[in-house]
Amino acid sequence: MTLDLAHKALKKYFGYDQFRPLQAEIIQAVYDKRDVMVLMPTGGGKSICYQIPAITMDGVAVVVSPLIALMKDQVEGLSANGIPAAYINSTLTGEQTRNVENALLAGYVKLLYVSPEKLVSQGFQPLLKRLKINLFAIDEAHCISAWGHDFRPEYTQLRFLKEQFPEQPLIALTATADKLTRKDIIGQLHLQEPATFIASFDRPNISLQVRPGQKRFEQIVDFLKKHQRQSGIIYCLSRKGCQDLASKLVAKGFKADYYHAEVPAARRNKVQEDFTNDRTLIICATIAFGMGIDKSNVRFVIHYNLPRNLEGYYQEIGRAGRDGLPAEALLFFSYADVNSYRDMIEQSEADETQKALKIAKLNRMFQFAEAPVCRRKTVLYYFGESYDRNCGNCDVCQNPPQQFDGTVAAQKALSALTRTQEQVGMNLLVDILRGSQRREIFEQRFNEIKTYGAGREYTFEDWQFLLSQMLHVGLIEIAYDDHSRLKVTDEGKKILFEGKKVKLALPVPKAKRAERQPRFQEKTKGQELKDELFERLKMLRRSLAQQQGVPPYLIFSDATLDDMSQKRPLADADMLAVSGVGERKLQLYGDAFIEEIRRFVLEKSGDGSRVAGGTQLQSWEMFKKGRSVEEIAAERDISPVTVISHLATMYERGELIDIDRWVSPEEVDIIQGALGMFSEPYPQKELFEHFEGRFSYDKIRWAVADFRRQNGAAGA
Ligand code: ADP
Ligand code: ZN
Repeated sequence: MTLDLAHKALKKYFGYDQFRPLQAEIIQAVYDKRDVMVLMPTGGGKSICYQIPAITMDGVAVVVSPLIALMKDQVEGLSANGIPAAYINSTLTGEQTRNVENALLAGYVKLLYVSPEKLVSQGFQPLLKRLKINLFAIDEAHCISAWGHDFRPEYTQLRFLKEQFPEQPLIALTATADKLTRKDIIGQLHLQEPATFIASFDRPNISLQVRPGQKRFEQIVDFLKKHQRQSGIIYCLSRKGCQDLASKLVAKGFKADYYHAEVPAARRNKVQEDFTNDRTLIICATIAFGMGIDKSNVRFVIHYNLPRNLEGYYQEIGRAGRDGLPAEALLFFSYADVNSYRDMIEQSEADETQKALKIAKLNRMFQFAEAPVCRRKTVLYYFGESYDRNCGNCDVCQNPPQQFDGTVAAQKALSALTRTQEQVGMNLLVDILRGSQRREIFEQRFNEIKTYGAGREYTFEDWQFLLSQMLHVGLIEIAYDDHSRLKVTDEGKKILFEGKKVKLALPVPKAKRAERQPRFQEKTKGQELKDELFERLKMLRRSLAQQQGVPPYLIFSDATLDDMSQKRPLADADMLAVSGVGERKLQLYGDAFIEEIRRFVLEKSGDGSRVAGGTQLQSWEMFKKGRSVEEIAAERDISPVTVISHLATMYERGELIDIDRWVSPEEVDIIQGALGMFSEPYPQKELFEHFEGRFSYDKIRWAVADFRRQNGAAGA
C-alpha cells in the first residue's frame, strides 16, 4: 500500500488536500501492518488515521468506540462522504442488526463501529471470525486504564483481539493519556512493538484569555455581543450557577440553555442535540457537559469559575475550535474561587495525600491564571512539552506586562508581613499596607505597626497582583496548614535584609487595564464581504438541513463554509478545491452552493463593490438574456474583446455556450495544436503572432477556453 492512494482518498472522500502532522506517518505504519499507539489532542484529526487505511485496504475495519451517540454521528458523517459504514450496538433492533451483518458479509461495509460490550460478547464472535478484517481501531483507548479518568471495565477484555487476530494491525487512539496510562494501554491490549505517535498538544487556533472575575456577567454579555451567532460553552461550578446564568442570558435575548447532571436524561439529550444542531447557541454547563459532544464549530469556551486543575482546563477549552478555525478560551479568575475550592478540598473525605495533590494542582491552576507569562508556554510546559517562544495568541503576549524594579514594593510587603508575626493572609496584609480602617486591624493593633498604610500608592487589586507574583517567584509562601497565612521565605529575607533586587510586572491601573484589553480589530472590506457570504452559506446550509432532516454539520462543516466564502467557487472544479468538499458532497450540494455564491457575487458587483468574478458574471447574465456581445459592451461601457473574454471564462468554468458562432471546430483544432509550444496562461499576443494574424484574438481566446474546459484547468 502506498501513501499515494491515501492522498487520493483524502481528497476524493474528505475533500482535503493535505494530511495534518503525523497522519501520513500513522497511516503508513498501519499499511506496514504495525500496531500503533496515537496520542493526539481532541480535534487533531485522529479519525482520519484509521478511516483512510480502512477505505484504501481490502476488507473491513472494526472500530471500537465507547460512546454510542458518537458512533451514530461518525457513521452518518462517513456516509455523507460516500463511505460505506455501519454500527452495531444495543440501540439496534434484531432486524437492523441482521441487516448490518448481511451487508458486512457481502463486503459492502468498509468501517464497522461497535461498542466494547458487543465486541467481547459471545454472540458476536462467529461473525467476527467470518469477516475479512483489515484493522482494529480502539478509540478513546485510555478507557482501558484504571489510571485514566474514564475507566471502563469492558475495555480490559479487549486483550482478546491481539490473541485472536495477531496478524491484523491494531491502532489505539486517545486524547488524554499520561505516561502511565500509555504504558497500560500498550500492555493491556498486548500491542506488539507498537509505533507510538505523540502529537503536540498545542492548539494554536485557540486564543487563551484570562481576565479578573469582577463583573463577570457584564463581561460575558459584552463578549457574547461580539460573538453573535456563534456557539460556545460557559462552564460554571454549580448546578444552580448554570441555571441562573442561563436564565439571565435568556433575559438579555441570547439563545442559551443549561446542562448539568441533575437535569433529567431526556432533557439533557435534547439540550445536547439542540446545541449540536445550532438551535441553541450557548450552553451554561457543569463539567458534566462535554464528553460525547462531537461538535466542531464551538467558537468559544468560557470558564465562569476557575477550573480545579490545568488538566480540566485544557480538556474543556479543547472543545473549542476543533475545526481549526479561530476560537477563544476565556477564563475568569477570582481569589474567592480559589479559596472556596481549597475549603472544599480540605473538608472532603479524601485522605491527606490526595488532598495535598489536589491542592498542589489547584495552585498550579491559580499560578497559570496569575503569572504574567505566555499562557500557552505555561500550560504546554505543564504537560511536558517545551515551547520556547511566546505564542502571540494569548492575553499576556498581546499585552505584555511592563517590568519594573519591584524591590521597594516587595520590601514594604515583606516588612509588614514580618511585623504581623506572619499571622495574616493575603487580604488582610493588603489592608494593612493600604491603611484600611477594617475592624480586625484595630482589634489586632496592626494599625500600630510601622508599615501600616505604607503602600497606599497601589490599589487593593494592584497589591493582589504584586503579592501573587511574589508568591510565584518564591518571596512568600502560603501556609496551607496554618489558615493560609503568608510566610516570608528565605528568598524573601534576602530582599528584606540583604538588599537583593527583584523585578516584577507593573500593575496596570484598572481603567487602563480595561482599555488595554485586546480590541477586536476592525474588519476590512474584503473580510466584511467574506463574513456576509459566510452567513448566507450558513443559512442555505440550515435550510437544506431542514429539508433533508439532517444536522447542518453533516452537509458541510463551518471550516468548509469558511473556505468556500473565501474562495467563492463558481464552478465544479473550483468547488472541489474547497477544503472539505469531496466528490460525494460536490454531487449532492455543489449546485446549490454555487448558485448562492453566484447570486451573492452578482448582487455585490451590482452595487459597485469590486468582487472577483463579478464582472464576468454580469456579462454572462446579460448574454443569457439574449443580448449580443456588442450590446453588452455598449451597455457596460467595456470593449467587445473584454466581453468575449468574460464569456470565455464562463465557458471554461463549464457554462454552455455555442462557440461555433465565433470559431469553427477546424480552427479550434489548429489553434489548440499550437498550444503545446506555450504554457499557461497562454499569452494571446504571442499566439496571435505565431499564426501571423491568421486568427483573430477572439478566435484564439475561444480555442484556449475550450482547451481549458477539456483539461480542467478552469480558474488556473
Ligand atoms: P479527533 O477525533 O482527533 O478529535 P477528528 O478526527 O474529529 O478529531 O478531526 C477534527 C476535524 O479536523 C474534523 O472536522 C476533520 O474532518 C478535520 N480534519 C482531519 N484531518 C484533516 C486534514 N488532513 N485536513 C483538514 N481537516 C482535517
Ligand atoms: Zn502567549
